[in-house]
Amino acid sequence: MNTRALAAMKPGEALTPFAFDRRAMKNTDIDFTVSYAGICHSDIHQVREEWGPSLFPMVPGHEIVGIVDRVGSDVSSFSPGDKIGVGVFVDSCRTCPQCLSGLEQYCDEGMTPTYNGMERDGKTISFGGYSNRFVIDHKYAVHVPSELDFAGVAPLLCAGITLYSPLRHWNAGKKTKIAVMGLGGLGHLGLKFAKAMGAEVTVLSHSASKEKDARAMGADDFIVTSDPTSFLKSRKRFDLILNTVSAEIDINQYLELLSLNGTLVCIGLPGKPYAVNVGSLLSARRSLGGSMIGGIKETQEMLDFAGVHGIVSEVEVIDANYVNAAYERTVASDVRYRFVIDAKTL
Ligand code: NAP
Ligand code: ZN
Ligand code: ZN
Repeated sequence: MNTRALAAMKPGEALTPFAFDRRAMKNTDIDFTVSYAGICHSDIHQVREEWGPSLFPMVPGHEIVGIVDRVGSDVSSFSPGDKIGVGVFVDSCRTCPQCLSGLEQYCDEGMTPTYNGMERDGKTISFGGYSNRFVIDHKYAVHVPSELDFAGVAPLLCAGITLYSPLRHWNAGKKTKIAVMGLGGLGHLGLKFAKAMGAEVTVLSHSASKEKDARAMGADDFIVTSDPTSFLKSRKRFDLILNTVSAEIDINQYLELLSLNGTLVCIGLPGKPYAVNVGSLLSARRSLGGSMIGGIKETQEMLDFAGVHGIVSEVEVIDANYVNAAYERTVASDVRYRFVIDAKTL
């Protein structure tokens, strides 16, 4: 199936127009026209090989929404014309305990990533959502609530679920005091979901200019992390800290902000290890955890929750030819708060 896309041909290179053939549709597949694809910081990390070697050519994009064109003969859960979403993985082993319990992202064999990985045939490189067409097995696609702004939904497929899942796992609710580190694509959705769950939410940001936006999105407090006195004032204040920072930081000063038994969840993946001061952990029985996206069932639950609460990403919709500039602006924390590619412009 002839497909137009944007690809990086080599590590760190600018993305350029690229054409390839998507696999022919199987009976269990859905063929859809991509409407929007979000730009996640993970796309940039992988194009630039900040997490180790990547596969090239690379068509990034794992925040994908579109409209169904055709469904295979074994598919009854989707119909032509439906709004569809695809996130960070397109398949998994389907038999391990995690796959069987809806935690496909933690598959024992490793999930099949939407791009920069091998399809399960072991021969084909997976190509992502910066493209005009997509073919997906129906079990790895989700339904998009029709009332939500379509471009604003795309980032929910990675950024949204990646914050929703730990909020649920660590029982965010009415009495929880939460801090979100970094007001970028992930962070601003964490703020919105945590507020909708009733939590008290503080944003910890290195960009003083984002305070007004954070408060408009519901933040109860905003702390500029470059000011050391703010840290001292917030010692032992939070039950849960969600760390979405994409760059290297000193994690220890943030651990000090956790209350007794509090947890700091690592979500951002800068690519280099943190140096953890164990004293910060044991002095208040604190935990350091991690969380990766969410399974298909929970992604659907997150979208339905977003539908009920009217949650979408703040987006800057861009044409395909702006993608390289958008990468630079994302790395400079100059994104308000997600770039989304209009796939018609590919
Ligand atoms: P993003 O939009 O670029 O946001 C990252 C934010 O981190 C920035 O907006 C900025 O917020 C803060 N930041 C950046 N550089 C900083 C620095 N030098 N010091 C302190 N703060 C800094 O990125 P994203 O798409 O939200 O992704 C964030 C991270 O999560 C990436 O590493 C990405 O790969 C990872 N990720 C993980 C998962 C998962 O499943 N765990 C899923 C998706 C993405 P302020 O301006 O407010 O400080
Ligand atoms: Zn992502
Ligand atoms: Zn599995």
